[in-house]
Amino acid sequence: MGELNRRIVTDGQVFPGDVLKVDSFLNHQIDPEIMHEITGKWLEYFKDREITKILTIEASGIAPAIIVASTLGVPMLFAKKATPSTLTNHDLYTTPVHSYTKNVTNEILVSKKYLSPDDKVLIVDDFLANGEAALGLADLVEQSGAEVVGIGICIEKSYQPGRQKLDDAGYEVYSVSRIQSLANGRVEFLSE
Ligand code: 5GP
Repeated sequence: MGELNRRIVTDGQVFPGDVLKVDSFLNHQIDPEIMHEITGKWLEYFKDREITKILTIEASGIAPAIIVASTLGVPMLFAKKATPSTLTNHDLYTTPVHSYTKNVTNEILVSKKYLSPDDKVLIVDDFLANGEAALGLADLVEQSGAEVVGIGICIEKSYQPGRQKLDDAGYEVYSVSRIQSLANGRVEFLSE
């Protein structure tokens, strides 16, 4: 079992609504060693892809995204969750994303300045559940004419529809941890 899965077992807490809380190392306090394990696996899986940019969404994707970007020597861009005033700006790519944990739909946005048609973008995020965040980020990339090289995820809840949706849309997805079930508060992984 990898270190990430071990930490999920020891520190993770299952909340109602199938939410796995991992605040001690991923979503609030951040453990750099776990981040390096995760990002090392993404880098190995997506090596030799001529990636020019890493894209994530604020806030929890930023920590692993900056490590990957720094290792590859490319910029890291994060999509912002919109406030109404920012949406009057026409120099933005925007798309609606429904939040799994907050149960609200927000626009997310990036400036048109930071994505161009010759970019090859690796999208990364902390969790994959229904796939809304990842599909929204892929939509921003595609609006710009850039290419989605792949999608790197820290923790995928494989029994929820996101993974299948991304596979069906033709994206290459690599998730470091794949959870098969959180039933009865117990974490079970897909076999590694
Ligand atoms: P999706 O868009 O795939 O439905 O959900 C992904 C987003 O929702 C992630 O960016 C993450 O912030 C949040 N999320 C979804 N499921 C969980 C979960 O079980 N635990 C935590 N901490 N965040 C989650």
